[in-house]
Amino acid sequence: MPHPPSTYIGRFAPSPSGALHFGSLVAAVGSYLQAKSQQGKWLVRIEDIDPPREIAGASEDILLTLKAYGLIWDDDVIYQSQQSIHYEKVLIKLHQQKLSYACTCTRKLIKQQGGLYLGNCRDKSLTNNDNALRINVSKLAQPITHFYDHLHGDIQLDAQQADEDFIIKRKDGLYAYNLAVSIDDINQGITEIVRGADLLPTTGKQISLYQLLGKQPPSYIHLPLAVTEPGFKLSKQNHALAIDKQKPIATLLKALSFLGHEVPESVDKRSCTTILEWAIQHWQLANVPKQTEIQI
Ligand code: GLU
Ligand code: ZN
Repeated sequence: MPHPPSTYIGRFAPSPSGALHFGSLVAAVGSYLQAKSQQGKWLVRIEDIDPPREIAGASEDILLTLKAYGLIWDDDVIYQSQQSIHYEKVLIKLHQQKLSYACTCTRKLIKQQGGLYLGNCRDKSLTNNDNALRINVSKLAQPITHFYDHLHGDIQLDAQQADEDFIIKRKDGLYAYNLAVSIDDINQGITEIVRGADLLPTTGKQISLYQLLGKQPPSYIHLPLAVTEPGFKLSKQNHALAIDKQKPIATLLKALSFLGHEVPESVDKRSCTTILEWAIQHWQLANVPKQTEIQI
């Protein structure tokens, strides 16, 4: 019998600051299986809003790597570098509703005041031109101090951070990650975000934006991070090794095992496709370790 159409839309949103490493593969596999086990869509979005941190050729390489691992996405790949018109529209709306404001404070000044931005420019009505833009979190019904994560349960966020007017556009004109990611997730109709636990602390800011824009936030799952030592995640910045595109099977099995899914002997392990087919059938969020990091 055909499955009823699913309303689930998930995504994988890599930044092209380097090749995919084991940690990003875990996020790709986890988000893929969570979507496909519910007959949902799995979208890929390249988060290329920070040109200084972009590595030439990384976007193409990431997409080739996903294909080599059998992780085939639905619909067209979206590039954040092509979404400026949507970000500008939202910036205008936030400005008109006085939910954001321009800020001229330097990093040095904020550091002198203890490192947390205290809203100095909230009531100054500075012009937007060439200034950073911040969200006025005092316009929220209440600051976002916790949220529900479907793996970890209730997540308590740093109360001081929850009160901080965060940046949505930088002085150098670049859109902030929290702005771009929220607008794209809204525009793509994402129903659930599955990503690494390094992004737990940013989630409050993203939920704040949803509220100010009058949108329902998606549900959240933050997967354990692969670390080499406690507190040291694998990342493009610390030059984690790129995963092998030529011999993907051992690494795919390792990612599944990391996520609590051991593929049995009986499964044909000669192709990523048969392994992923088994994984789609047997994926259970309850088997994923309820940890924010796991040493590998
Ligand atoms: N682009 C972000 C990263 O690579 C992930 C964004 C997200 O999944 O929300 O760390
Ligand atoms: Zn300021």
